[in-house]
Amino acid sequence: MKTIAVLTSGGDAPGMNATIRAIVRTAVENGLKVYGVTRGYKGLIEGTMKEMDLRSVSNIINRGGTMLYSARCPEFNTPEGIQKAVKTCKDKGIEGVVCIGGDGTFRGAKDLSNYGGIACIGVPGTIDNDIACCDYTTGYDTALNTIVDIVDRIRDTTESHDRCAVIEVMGRNAGYLALNGGIAIGATSILIPEKEFDLDRDIIDRIKRAQKSGKEYFVVMVAEGCTDRLKEMGIDGVEALARYIQSRTGVEARHAVLGHAQRGGYSSAKDRIIGSRMGNRAVHLLLEGKTNRVVAMQKDEVVDYDINEALDMKKSIDLDLYRIAMEISI
Ligand code: ADP
Repeated sequence: MKTIAVLTSGGDAPGMNATIRAIVRTAVENGLKVYGVTRGYKGLIEGTMKEMDLRSVSNIINRGGTMLYSARCPEFNTPEGIQKAVKTCKDKGIEGVVCIGGDGTFRGAKDLSNYGGIACIGVPGTIDNDIACCDYTTGYDTALNTIVDIVDRIRDTTESHDRCAVIEVMGRNAGYLALNGGIAIGATSILIPEKEFDLDRDIIDRIKRAQKSGKEYFVVMVAEGCTDRLKEMGIDGVEALARYIQSRTGVEARHAVLGHAQRGGYSSAKDRIIGSRMGNRAVHLLLEGKTNRVVAMQKDEVVDYDINEALDMKKSIDLDLYRIAMEISI
């Protein structure tokens, strides 16, 4: 293998830049030519890329976002789109691609490898921590700490006014940010997509019990992935949930949707380190002639899996964490 490429796809995550840096430096140190493809699979289809050298990735290890930009690219899900991407690779002499992102990105990598014969390695980069084979995805730790930092600030004012703060955090299918964020900030109630919930049992009764013990301010954490179920219950979003809580408990309730503030910012030491370790492994896998692998962290070790196996795996959140959260937060 002489020439490889790196791209970031799907939602950006802090630590993606540390991963890119490790990939470029590992490649150059091992005598490979390496291209940085801009805007994910769109860039591969359109041939937008630049050759990277050791200095191309200077001063990015700490930065959030992705220096290669990201994009969703529905065209890549079509045979024509993949053919165009394969042609770009052949024209540039690219024999291997490292694809940083989530499950969708790995499906794209698999297609590029199976239909185009290009060696592909997936590296997890997503704040949702929803990659089954990976204990900690790059971006999750930073986002979790950002949530804790923002909610600590909201809590100060919530406490000063005896209010209830209803906070929506990211996580369409996974409740890791809401659950661990909820534990870390002492949320009275936590709603996650992995667990059925009942508004009276899981929010109203808990607030009333806490009131009886003298508690006067409350935080309710809601994962984005619960909003559909709330809608089915006639509650359209966290603003409506705050109104419902106020009407049932008499506590003034305010809502906040943390949105993209959770995704940006300087990455944590942990995300820089795991991004660097996984990026390094990805290039070594290509050098060993491997393809269709996903790199992951398990018990603080870097491991790798067959891409099909990785995509078939199901991640189940530790519901004992939920039990702990509920036992210690009234
Ligand atoms: P993530 O990688 O964070 O899960 P997406 O699901 O949006 O994000 O996927 C990112 C990109 O990966 C998509 O825009 C598309 O280009 C590509 N992709 C997603 N799913 C597939 C698929 N089944 N086949 C081929 N490419 C896919």
